[in-house]
Amino acid sequence: MDVISSPNQIQEITKKLYKEGKTIGFVPTMGALHEGHLALVRKSKTVNDITIVSIFVNPKQFGRNEDLKKYPRPIGKDQALLIKEKVNYLFYPSSSAIYPSGYKTNVKVKGFSDILEGKSRPDHFAGVATVVLKLFNLINPTHAYFGQKDFQQCVVIKQMVKDLDLPVNIKIIPTVRENDGLALSSRNIFLNGQERLQALALYQSLLLANKLIAGGNKKARFIKAKMKNYLKKYKLVRLDYIEICNPQDLSAVKVIPKKVVVLITAFVGKTRLIDNIII
Ligand code: AMP
Repeated sequence: MDVISSPNQIQEITKKLYKEGKTIGFVPTMGALHEGHLALVRKSKTVNDITIVSIFVNPKQFGRNEDLKKYPRPIGKDQALLIKEKVNYLFYPSSSAIYPSGYKTNVKVKGFSDILEGKSRPDHFAGVATVVLKLFNLINPTHAYFGQKDFQQCVVIKQMVKDLDLPVNIKIIPTVRENDGLALSSRNIFLNGQERLQALALYQSLLLANKLIAGGNKKARFIKAKMKNYLKKYKLVRLDYIEICNPQDLSAVKVIPKKVVVLITAFVGKTRLIDNIII
């Protein structure tokens, strides 16, 4: 695996690959890799001639009081995992290479950026869209892989790709979970023993929603109330929001239609975790 940190250099490489007619699968990440990230990588490997992973802890998508500084950066371990997966290139730029002094442009996808996650994290999706567009321009991928775990991120990226006619196919990969159901996340390492146990309540509350909907309950308000009530037992879990939405446009539903996404975000101790389920 070649490790490239210069934007110009990765762009030269991918231009050459494109001319040779190679398909490129791209997996953007912030590192601290786990089986969730690797599921995206493996999917890319099965479909594309070349797989490129980026590791970049994007400062633009962190709010002022968020965990940018303490976000885990185990680069040696990450590289070893990617070598094992036979990734062709790791793009590992510095912050100043991506945002050199004088950098001024921001990409904002209207409508999705100020609801759900965007409400709690006002600049988050502009940061995500900006860096993903830059990475797409550098890498020119045939396919780019994102995890369903960050459901709203997937919707924002798909909208940006559609609106800006970007020549890339977006592929969404189902959430990879621990055996007990907790969604894998780079932030799970911040959980202490008690928090780790209680973190499971997020997924359990989603399963409760699934059960209620499968049982014929149609009122979103009732289902949300049941979920909130379930979470009350877990004293280390502080709910940010639960929402039941149309998966296409993320509009909140009052009556459950054929297909919905139930989204939950909560602090467990000081760690903010997100999860969702499509029903
Ligand atoms: P991150 O490093 O957190 O920015 O994540 C990089 C990519 O991996 C994003 O597309 C995430 O949605 C995806 N991802 C993170 N956790 C999981 C998971 N548990 N299952 C599947 N994909 C995931």
